[in-house]
Amino acid sequence: MSFNFNLSYSYDDIIRSLLLLKKNYSHVVHIETIGISHDHREIPLVKIGKDNPGPLYLAGVHARESINPVVLLACMDKLIENYYAKQIPELENYTLYFIPLLNPDGYEIATNGYDSIKDQSLKKALKKCKVDASEFKYNAKGIDINRNFDCKSYVKSKTSGTKMSEPETKALVHACELYHFMGMIDFHSRGNSIYYYREAMSDDYNQNQLEIAQMLSKITGYHLNIISDENPDQKSGGNTVHYFSEHFNLPALTIETIEDEATFPLSTDYRKTVYEQIKKIPLEFLKILIAKD
Ligand SMILES: [Zn+2]
Repeated sequence: MSFNFNLSYSYDDIIRSLLLLKKNYSHVVHIETIGISHDHREIPLVKIGKDNPGPLYLAGVHARESINPVVLLACMDKLIENYYAKQIPELENYTLYFIPLLNPDGYEIATNGYDSIKDQSLKKALKKCKVDASEFKYNAKGIDINRNFDCKSYVKSKTSGTKMSEPETKALVHACELYHFMGMIDFHSRGNSIYYYREAMSDDYNQNQLEIAQMLSKITGYHLNIISDENPDQKSGGNTVHYFSEHFNLPALTIETIEDEATFPLSTDYRKTVYEQIKKIPLEFLKILIAKD
């Protein structure tokens, strides 16, 4: 694998890596911009494979969870390498989708500080943020994207924003409506675990989610979160996965990488560990969905 875990990855480096993948493997890799952030950074969607829509893999929703975007780059790199070694017949018939960094402004703040925001009025407003940049979870307007989605559990609060108000939220919705993904996994970083239960959905839906989560648990070694942990304070709704479940009635799970005790900024040493834990997920989740279809 050509991917280097020891390099630093700014937003620009991530974009450069994606463009290099596209240049080297234009036969099977396509990239498009699905939205522009408040501070004018493009939000890329990467398509790997052919023909029928497969699942979407999403990362970088929460700014400070800086390991997963880079690990998804490594997963894409390996996937393409295996494809060219003729080990992935599924990609002759299905396309896998990746949004490795939905919140580029937040990622830049968390990894390079508040001064990485170019727009002066945004920067001025962010100065009021009392939180250390390395702990920053939000987008450049201080909104938690993972509380901003249209779904039954959305609750208006200071950090949720008005439902669907944010460019990052709109970018994901646009991609979902355009591509009809088979399912979705949103990678976050808290506790090596998997969230699968959706209060707003039917028993049948949740039984299917449980079966998928158990298979993903075997692959990753991550434990399943109990049902009461899904939205314990009734203020943790409005998520990407809630939106996807309720609007498309298709599987959507949250996979939390990284141990509970980890502190921010997350050590880049986690990249290799997380990669080993989740590297099989993109293809295996596709196979699970094909088998269940
Ligand atoms: Zn998160």
